[in-house]
Amino acid sequence: MRHIAIIGSGPAGYYTAEAAQKVFGDDVRVDVFDRLPVPYGLIRSGVAPDHQSIKAVSRRYEKVALSDNVRFVGNVAIGEDVTIAELQALYDAVVLATGAPHDRPLGIPGDDLGNVFGSAAFVGWYNGHPQFARLDPDLSGKTAVVIGMGNVALDVARILAKTPAELAGSDIVAHALDALAASRIERIVLLGRRGPHQIMMTPKELGELGELARAAPHVAPVDLPIPEEDAILEPGLRKSVSHLRAFAATPEHIRAEKPVAVEFAFMSAPKALLGSSKVEAIEVEKTRLVHGQAERTGEVERVPADIVVSCIGFRSSPIPGVPFDERAGRFANDEGRILPGLYCVGWARRGPTGTIGTNRPDGYTTAEHIADDVEAGILGRATKQGGDGFDALAAQRRLDVVTFQDWKKIEEAEERAAREGAPREKFVDIEAMIRARR
Ligand code: NAP
Repeated sequence: MRHIAIIGSGPAGYYTAEAAQKVFGDDVRVDVFDRLPVPYGLIRSGVAPDHQSIKAVSRRYEKVALSDNVRFVGNVAIGEDVTIAELQALYDAVVLATGAPHDRPLGIPGDDLGNVFGSAAFVGWYNGHPQFARLDPDLSGKTAVVIGMGNVALDVARILAKTPAELAGSDIVAHALDALAASRIERIVLLGRRGPHQIMMTPKELGELGELARAAPHVAPVDLPIPEEDAILEPGLRKSVSHLRAFAATPEHIRAEKPVAVEFAFMSAPKALLGSSKVEAIEVEKTRLVHGQAERTGEVERVPADIVVSCIGFRSSPIPGVPFDERAGRFANDEGRILPGLYCVGWARRGPTGTIGTNRPDGYTTAEHIADDVEAGILGRATKQGGDGFDALAAQRRLDVVTFQDWKKIEEAEERAAREGAPREKFVDIEAMIRARR
């Protein structure tokens, strides 16, 4: 019997657990750890609350979680309650599926002003992540600036733009729904340091921006390259650009019917955030493209900004003793191998790119590497204690472990508390989650 500890119960974690079952059959026991008492990581607290169809993939993870040889071990913080070294002594393989929970820093003057948030915090706020539930962004100003032109920037802009009715069927948490219902924002500026051909937005998600009840996307026709140049783009990007062209072609009187404007500001690199205690404006430097990269031109503009959300990517958390690639913001690894017996998957392995599904092949590759390493004798003989050893350690340390059965009770309580038409009302603090289990 081989024992595998997976740290992180998001998509990368559960796809790896599923792959381990396939690769090892009955000869494996898998413990999936999470610092929260609730599973699914980014599915729960990253995927936009109005994208319920994407969240449905958690049913697949639930099937894995409920199988006999996989356990969910919630409310256990690896690195605090238990060290990696202790897990390595108990399990044949330890797999870091810890994602990339920190925002890549903006690193410009004024980025510590009030009402300036990174996307992990802002998305965590409206998704009810316990760490960010009390963020309390001020939405009483007119203009929001969202930095970045990826799908996270789109999520943030869309959530800021939607009406309460449009969010009714989502699982946005009550505090965010109330705050957004009272929002006075009427201008949302999406700031990109490069041009329309360099956006990272996927077509389906970008298309949604054209279908909002009270908000309309604004693209200046002059910002778009000549249509013939779209031919060289890969098909997905070409489709996204065709959405930008449709937005640009919308007559002004149609756009004006909607009171909220979502403006695309291309070729604009953030230079400084201005304000006394709270942000009031952003200074941007116009750019030009040189070999596809943004080169600053020295021309500076000022855009009013009552709230700023920076959506420019994420970084993993380094763990003492585990080799880390500082530049890439992820663990130093060779196809998921970090050190003998220590592996990584998902964003902890690749960095913050790709969709939920991208994690599946990642998990399979790593499970196969573990099997190869067992075969090659790198992981030693099958003598590790696995979950039994962990349970003894947890009892000794009086850890309050939350099981998958406990989670099902928490989930039922969240479903019972849902407002009408919504799938659930999430608990936003850890104590409440733990109480609900009882
Ligand atoms: P992303 O796709 O990498 O986009 C990051 C954006 O930030 C880019 O436009 C980038 O511009 C810009 N940026 C980076 N550093 C910057 C700086 N210093 N100043 C100004 N702009 C800067 O990242 P993401 O939006 O965080 O998304 C992460 C991953 O999750 C992506 O693979 C995304 O597709 C996925 N995701 C998918 C969905 C969905 O499918 N519905 C939803 C959310 C996220 P440059 O290109 O110029 O660097």
